[in-house]
Amino acid sequence: MRVYLGLGSNLETPIDQLRAARIAISNVNGISEIAFSSLYRSPSMGSKDQPDYINAVMAIETDLSPLELLAAMQCVENEQGRIRTEHWGARTLDIDILLFGNEVLNLPNLIVPHYGMAERAFVLYPLAEIAPGLDIPSHGKLVELVARCPLDGLERLTDAA
Ligand code: ADP
Ligand code: MG
Repeated sequence: MRVYLGLGSNLETPIDQLRAARIAISNVNGISEIAFSSLYRSPSMGSKDQPDYINAVMAIETDLSPLELLAAMQCVENEQGRIRTEHWGARTLDIDILLFGNEVLNLPNLIVPHYGMAERAFVLYPLAEIAPGLDIPSHGKLVELVARCPLDGLERLTDAA
């Protein structure tokens, strides 16, 4: 199954967090990396006194089930020292399952496509970089979503992912 993951960090040298996450995710049994976007900087959506986020999108191929993948991603988050405090609070690493093939999932702990992804610049722009032809279940063509989405301060970085 082709899966797209959204990665974000705004604590503890975020660029290093994303690089470490990329390696950790690729090393999970049953996952192989297909593509990794550029790194992007975006202002925090939560309280404005938080540092900026660094975001990226990763495409993987996996034979894990959706819930196995969620558990594996939560392990990677926890191994990188994520401390869960306030919702949208600062975090060392957040991994969201954006898309799981063309599946629509409404489980208590897993909603796919990820809520909000169709309006978030820091998801849509990196996703369009690695998969411009995508159709998002219940939202339509990615290129059209991008065209309607203001940058909201999003900046593409020149640092290698
Ligand atoms: P956010 O990503 O909105 O900042 P969190 O990462 O703290 O918030 O939310 C984690 C919770 O979201 C997890 O307990 C997980 O069960 C749930 N969740 C629902 N849908 C998804 C998804 N598509 N990807 C990752 N987590 C999800
Ligand atoms: Mg999350």
